[in-house]
Amino acid sequence: MIRITDPSQCCGCTACASVCPHDAITMQPDVMGFLYPSVDSEKCIDCGLCEKVCAFNGNYDKSLNLPLPEAYAARHKEMQEVETSRSGAAFIAISDWVLQNDGVVYGAGYADHFRVVHKRATTKDERDEFKGSKYVQSYLGHVFKQVKRDLKDGKIVLFSGTPCQTSGLNSYIGRRLRENLYLVDIVCHGVPAPYLWRDYLAYLEKKQGDRICWVNFRDKQEFGWTAHHETFTFSDKSKMSTNTYTDLFYQHIMFRKSCAICPFTNVHRPSDITLADFWGWEKLSPDLNNDDKGLSLVFVNSDKGKRLFEVVKCDLNVYRVDDIDLCLQPNLRHPSIPHPKRNDFERDYAKHGFEYVAKKYGDMGWRYKLRILKRKAGTAKRLFLKKMGI
Ligand SMILES: Cc1cc2nc3c(=O)[nH]c(=O)nc-3n(C[C@H](O)[C@H](O)[C@H](O)COP(=O)(O)OP(=O)(O)OC[C@H]3O[C@@H](n4cnc5c(N)ncnc54)[C@H](O)[C@@H]3O)c2cc1C
Ligand code: SF4
Ligand code: SF4
Ligand code: SF4
Repeated sequence: MIRITDPSQCCGCTACASVCPHDAITMQPDVMGFLYPSVDSEKCIDCGLCEKVCAFNGNYDKSLNLPLPEAYAARHKEMQEVETSRSGAAFIAISDWVLQNDGVVYGAGYADHFRVVHKRATTKDERDEFKGSKYVQSYLGHVFKQVKRDLKDGKIVLFSGTPCQTSGLNSYIGRRLRENLYLVDIVCHGVPAPYLWRDYLAYLEKKQGDRICWVNFRDKQEFGWTAHHETFTFSDKSKMSTNTYTDLFYQHIMFRKSCAICPFTNVHRPSDITLADFWGWEKLSPDLNNDDKGLSLVFVNSDKGKRLFEVVKCDLNVYRVDDIDLCLQPNLRHPSIPHPKRNDFERDYAKHGFEYVAKKYGDMGWRYKLRILKRKAGTAKRLFLKKMGI
């Protein structure tokens, strides 16, 4: 049976809980809300299936992959889709085709009060909730089992998510049902903790004295594609843009521990198609994104992905990239390096809560102001010494 002794070895994909024939595994949260499998030894018959299905390691299935992905820059022809998606809305073009063919699309949406969860969509309206990056680990629940049911019913299924999710799903589904399953992953920087996101919303609502009615993890329409600011809309229609969550995100201090050893930070993807922001697009052609509206990087990883991308291309403006090295952003080379105080952060959060850690490690308190002052003083000193020729 599966036993997690080192939390960094488990990405929380739910494949083991889904495969257990005796429902002996439940996913239980740690102090930050990341889920881990927990086995009920009364129910377990020691069949070993849960260990066998785990694909969070270097041996994940790459057997259907092309030797190297075909790489493209892509942007949807409808500007409205680009404006409301994270990068170039390649996901919309791909999922539109699946829906037009009576298929089912799975992706990250919302439940309750902006809790990020994986959901099933059969209409464009339902699918549109999956648009845009939600920078928090999504709750998968029983979605893997639902995907299997859809495939058994003969449906075409598109599952979109992080590579650790597509890798786990692929392993759980197995070869026999794989034909109608399209896997789309994202290049992944890491996933923040669900409880931190929940607590940040509660903190802002308390501060504002009003309820949040919409969130945008990265407000492209207001600030452009390159910038990263989160925006919140309150019931009274007022808007607030902050950087606290973004700042903690880029410090790599609230990521799941498995993100530090992620085996998917390379070009051998566990999916048919991979999507990302096309950072470095300027090296291809100066006209591709000079309006800063966003551009998708698309990797076509398998023959199935190739056939799919061929039919959806008509909705996209596409630019073939011959040299894959031009596409290799950091998370296609190595995992994000965790903050040296990642464990202290977790301990402090468990003991004192969100506001304390946001002040101690984030941009909310006097420590942050002091850090900024020190940085500014250091820069001024360096410039002065340079000017004096010292
Ligand atoms: C946690 C996270 C980390 C990311 N890290 C990088 C990175 O390092 N480099 C980079 O270039 N891009 C990163 N992205 C952004 C990603 O590249 C874009 O979502 C992708 O380019 C697709 O853009 P799009 O315009 O085609 O479609 P969009 O409509 O913007 O994409 C939505 C897709 O993202 C999925 N999605 C959204 N949130 C989540 C989530 N929490 N968990 C699983 N799937 C989710 C949806 O299911 C859907 O398939 C990250 C996104 C997330 C959620
Ligand atoms: S060993 Fe078999 S029965 Fe036990 S938890 Fe794993 S899958 Fe379930
Ligand atoms: S990585 Fe997935 S399959 Fe492996 S132990 Fe964690 S939840 Fe289970
Ligand atoms: S960085 Fe890797 S382990 Fe972490 S969420 Fe992304 S794919 Fe999963």
